[in-house]
Amino acid sequence: MAPVTDPFHPRYFDQRDLGDELDRVGAVCAGCRACVERCEAFPRLFELLDGAAATGRHRLTPDEQQVVVDGCFDCGLCVLACPDAPGRSDRAIDVRQLLQRARELRHRDHPPPVTTRIAAGARRLVTRVSDPRPRTRFTTWMAQRSSSPNDGARPVVMFPTCHVEHHAPEIGRAGVGLLEQTGADCRVPSGLVCCGAPQLAAGDVAGFVESGRRNVRLLTEALGAHRSDRDGDAADRDRVEVVVPLPACAEILRSQYVRYVGGSDAELLAEATVDLAAHLLEHPPSMAEATSEPTGDAGAVTLHLPCRSRTAPADGAIAELLRRDGFEVTEVSGCLSPRAPQAILAAAATEVAVAIGSRGDGVVSSACPTALGAIVASSTIVGVHPLELLARHRGLLDN
Ligand code: SF4
Ligand code: SF4
Repeated sequence: MAPVTDPFHPRYFDQRDLGDELDRVGAVCAGCRACVERCEAFPRLFELLDGAAATGRHRLTPDEQQVVVDGCFDCGLCVLACPDAPGRSDRAIDVRQLLQRARELRHRDHPPPVTTRIAAGARRLVTRVSDPRPRTRFTTWMAQRSSSPNDGARPVVMFPTCHVEHHAPEIGRAGVGLLEQTGADCRVPSGLVCCGAPQLAAGDVAGFVESGRRNVRLLTEALGAHRSDRDGDAADRDRVEVVVPLPACAEILRSQYVRYVGGSDAELLAEATVDLAAHLLEHPPSMAEATSEPTGDAGAVTLHLPCRSRTAPADGAIAELLRRDGFEVTEVSGCLSPRAPQAILAAAATEVAVAIGSRGDGVVSSACPTALGAIVASSTIVGVHPLELLARHRGLLDN
């Protein structure tokens, strides 16, 4: 029987079915073990399955499942590397999705107490209030700026993400400036909310679907308005895209809304969504008017590739854009999430340090806010999102 992956399937939240699937996947992975050093989930899975078999049990208890789930930090790299992943083999091994399903079942049966949710909300508020940098929200900046696109400008819809909206509006401003250099008319629908990734990571399907429905509606309405406004043939109109500056959030729009929200609008949005860097590679920005002096030589940059950009079609786009502008790019990868195992973190940090050390100067750049935060916190080096780096080099940001 094919594994259940559809959240609307009647067996999706069946504990016995999930246990059977963990058993099946665990047996395949135990015979392979290629991922044993990627995270803690795999060694825990093998150990617990061996322990269960030794006592005559055939599946893990919900608490044991949770131990395995807690070892997964959702990097997605096991699926990327697996020769038996869905689409590559009839075995359809997708450990990431399976552990996500276990997370959701846990959340449904044991929702976190209200106090935990209030504490999480308070932590977010304190982070925002304690950030000493003055911030104008990205959408406020968009509403205040006066821009009059040329007739015939190519329409583009941006999903800025809540990180850009609240914490890093300069990334959004950089994206708008670069898009305008491609001849695009960039629009941001009002009322968008977080893509819902934090809720999904916690297994909170209801919370995720609520955010997803709202974003799908607003973005497809904006797409529809742009597409019907646009002159030209139907194929040309259909090429209006939704661009996203952060690869992890682009992945949510491209794959998870179809799974969890469903419907033709979610499918339309998935097809229209691209990483902003990939869009810029296809529509190269010209060196048009700058708002301030360009920052001079492009220089050296150590570019960290987020896990999500390695699992998405945008892989390599931002490095190519930086090279076209004259940057000397050294690419590094490796997960820098604080939830990654110590050995993975240490290896990734060493890779970054070696790249910086071999240059002795330059900046570090990453489209993953978590990785960038970790790099900047552990060194005196300048850290910046690659779109911002590109826009500053082109004189598109005046502060
Ligand atoms: S996920 Fe795939 S590659 Fe990784 S251990 Fe399992 S079977 Fe092997
Ligand atoms: S998604 Fe990443 S962290 Fe999760 S099981 Fe796969 S390799 Fe481990």
